[in-house]
Amino acid sequence: MINDPLVKTLLTNVVEDESNLPIVQSLLDGIDTDEEIAEKTGIKLNIVRKILYKLYDLGLASYKRSKDPETQWFTYTWTFEEEEVINRIIKDSEDYLKMLNDELEREENHMFFICPQGHVRLDFDDSSDYEFMCPVCGEELEFQDNTETIKQIKEDIKMVESNFNSFNEKNRK
Ligand SMILES: [Zn+2]
Repeated sequence: MINDPLVKTLLTNVVEDESNLPIVQSLLDGIDTDEEIAEKTGIKLNIVRKILYKLYDLGLASYKRSKDPETQWFTYTWTFEEEEVINRIIKDSEDYLKMLNDELEREENHMFFICPQGHVRLDFDDSSDYEFMCPVCGEELEFQDNTETIKQIKEDIKMVESNFNSFNEKNRK
């Protein structure tokens, strides 16, 4: 699961560094206490704990506390919330695709004008309001061909869709 590009991106953001990903992998492998995870991964116990609580804060992991009847110590057993990760990726991907599609639609249906000094980029209506002069420096605005921008957004959409489709094939029930 962890090698899926979308899962990996989400989790790497959460665990702060790719070198901490084995903590998540350990949970997926059924290793469920901080000490065992530290031992298995060679990652320092305080970091393992920090990452586990971070996952917990984000709803991506949960724990159960139990008391050892002999030593009276508390043990925390951790569970990785796979379903929650899947739901979050679905939502993030859908939001992102919607944003890209909105952006594409805006680029395709509008003409844009830019300040030659790079101060502003305005659509036709806004440019008209400023009489095609940059509101910052007063220079005349220039028409900008946005073919490249449109091409780039379309490529982004294709990439996100392809990652999302392969994620769905593997993870969505
Ligand atoms: Zn300007």
